[in-house]
Amino acid sequence: MTRVFNFSAGPAVLPEEVLAQAREEMLDWRGSGMSVMEMSHRGKEFIAIAQQAEADLRELLSIPTNYSVLFLQGGATAQFAMVPMNLLRGRKSADYVNTGEWAKKAIKEAKKFCPVNIAASAEDRNFTYAPKQAAWKLDPGAAYVHYTPNETIGGVEFQWVPETGDVPLVADMSSNILSRPVDISKYGLIYAGAQKNMGPAGLTIVILREDLMGAPLPGTPTMFDYKTHADADSMYNTPPTYAIYVAGLVFQWLKRKGGVAAMEKENIAKAALVYDAIDAMDFYGSPVAKEDRSRMNVPFTLQDAALDDEFLKQARQRGLIQLKGHRSVGGMRASIYNAMPMDGVRALVGLMKDFAAKNG
Ligand SMILES: *Cc1c(COP(=O)(O)O)cnc(C)c1O
Repeated sequence: MTRVFNFSAGPAVLPEEVLAQAREEMLDWRGSGMSVMEMSHRGKEFIAIAQQAEADLRELLSIPTNYSVLFLQGGATAQFAMVPMNLLRGRKSADYVNTGEWAKKAIKEAKKFCPVNIAASAEDRNFTYAPKQAAWKLDPGAAYVHYTPNETIGGVEFQWVPETGDVPLVADMSSNILSRPVDISKYGLIYAGAQKNMGPAGLTIVILREDLMGAPLPGTPTMFDYKTHADADSMYNTPPTYAIYVAGLVFQWLKRKGGVAAMEKENIAKAALVYDAIDAMDFYGSPVAKEDRSRMNVPFTLQDAALDDEFLKQARQRGLIQLKGHRSVGGMRASIYNAMPMDGVRALVGLMKDFAAKNG
């Protein structure tokens, strides 16, 4: 068996230990005689799996007791609609910070439900930086403030948490949740698709302050009301059971690794290796402002874009895959989530050095 180093932005690499455990338990989960995939979501086995996953996530992120943790479907994309449907609560408008491709999608969807005030935007410099708090024009009457702490495509990450006073802060943490400690109490709502840093596609995590639930827009479908899921322990209907199980294994793995503080240290070290290589060689460039560079998604360009295909080919020959940049940005992008081992990052930097030496 040969495993590649997979730099995909998502669905993304999972810890090998987790996959091996899932394989081990595939046909007979701990003496139950069943695969987790075959279990009733209302049976005692699966309820134990879901409860453990929630407890571990709560522990990893120190989630306060007045926050609900929901296991939903529909991806972060469904949250683009669920957030305004649930959080407007009779207020007229919402504030959004426009930092790139994902923020734009969230804004477009929110506009179906309310006027959107763009509190800050990085469009003037082609979304290569995180607008400073001092430049934000917040509306104190807004229902909430939405931002994207890590723009997966642009590779821009906020290294600080915005201050929004009494207006709830909402974050799309799809691509950097669990990569560093966060103070959950600063947020009204956090959402994240699992397939970047938590588990398989099909599961979406929502962490929300309980007092924000219970007043959805008239006409909100039952499935789109957070309270439906909070009241039913995320089992109002059949949840994505296998994805919850694998995410639960990832949470256990994170705990064994020392939790999110230990993860952050490793992520800083991994990102530094790649950015140092980019900065050390004229052959490579990064469009992103240094202080806002993402630890999770590292876009970089080759001086001569005509060499892109050759770079990708040599990467594949070394077992390094999915390095092609997003079509809207071009160049390369290395996604180096929690589960990407340091050895994978070293292999990438080795290729970058060899390739520049031969072609620079
Ligand atoms: C991947 C991603 C999304 C979209 O997630 P889906 O699960 O495909 O809906 C939204 N926001 C961010 C920041 C992402 O990285």
